[in-house]
Amino acid sequence: MSYKNFNCLECGEEFGESKKLHMHLRSHKIIMGNYYVKHYPRKSLFDGELIPFKTLEQYMGSYFFDDAERDKWLESASTERVQAFLLKTFKDAFNKNNNEALTYNDIASSRLPSVESCIKTFSSYGLMCKQLGVKATLSKRIPSDFWTADLSKMTIMIDTREQTPFVYRNSISSKIDIGDYTAMGDDYDYTYVDRKAKGDFISTLSKANFERFKKEMQRVRDLESQIYVVVEAPIKEIKERKSFNRKQASVEHIFHNMREIQREFSDVCQFVFADNVEHAREITARILKCGKNIWGVDLQYFINNR
Ligand SMILES: [Zn+2]
Repeated sequence: MSYKNFNCLECGEEFGESKKLHMHLRSHKIIMGNYYVKHYPRKSLFDGELIPFKTLEQYMGSYFFDDAERDKWLESASTERVQAFLLKTFKDAFNKNNNEALTYNDIASSRLPSVESCIKTFSSYGLMCKQLGVKATLSKRIPSDFWTADLSKMTIMIDTREQTPFVYRNSISSKIDIGDYTAMGDDYDYTYVDRKAKGDFISTLSKANFERFKKEMQRVRDLESQIYVVVEAPIKEIKERKSFNRKQASVEHIFHNMREIQREFSDVCQFVFADNVEHAREITARILKCGKNIWGVDLQYFINNR
C-alpha cells in the first residue's frame, strides 16, 4: 500500500494530504516517526534490522541503515538482487535528471552507488544505461592513444598568473584568455585546462565566486572552446571533509554547484579529479594533446577505470 494515500492506518480516516494526516496523529498520541515505523516497517536489505526514521523522504527512500551498509550489501548479495537494486536506484536518479544519464562525477559526488558497482554488475555503465533506455550525455570512448601519444614535441602555453606552474619539457609563459594551460602551434585545438588545487576548487564553487565562474564558462562557449577543470585531488578526498571552515559552504553544496555547472555547460566544461599534483600535470598535457578528440568523452570514467 502506498504511504501517499494519506489514510490514517490507526482509525481509517482519509486525509488526502500529508500535513493533515500528521496533525491528526496527535489524536492517537503517536508521533510521526513511530507511526511510519509501525505501519510501514522498513528493514535493511543487508541484515533485516529496522531502519531508523529521520525524515519521511529519507525513511521511505531507504533500503539500508547507511551508504556503507549498502556498499557492503552490493559486494555480497546475489547478482540478480544487485542488478534489480541498481536498475531501480538509477532509474529514479535519471528520472530526476530529465531522463538523461548522469556523468561519472555526478555520481561520484552524490550518494548514489558507485559507477564501479554498475560496471561490476552490468560489465559497463553504458550497458546499464542502455537497459534503462537513457543515453549518456558524454558517450564517446576515449581515444586509444590518450595515454600513449608522444608529448615530447608539444609546447604548452602557461598563463602568466600561474604561481607555481607545472613543469613541461617545452613551455612558454604568456597571457591566456581562458584557463591556465593550452597547447601551441599545430597542437592547439580550442581546448584549455583550468588547474585547481583542492582549496581553489572549493572556493571557485562557493557562493562568492560561483556567478563569476559561470560567466567564465559562458565566455568559453562564446569562443567555441572547451575547458577541463583539473583538480589536484581525488573526489573521495574532498568528499570526506564534512565541512570546511564556518564561512565556507558545506561540501554537499560545493558538489551541488559542480553538478549544476556540468549540466548547464555540458558542451564546454568538465571537471577532472587527479590522484595528486603529478597526476594532474600528466592529465593536463594529455588533455591538451588530444584536443577536440576528447570532447564528448566522460574523461573521469576512463581515468578511474584505466
Ligand atoms: Zn486516525
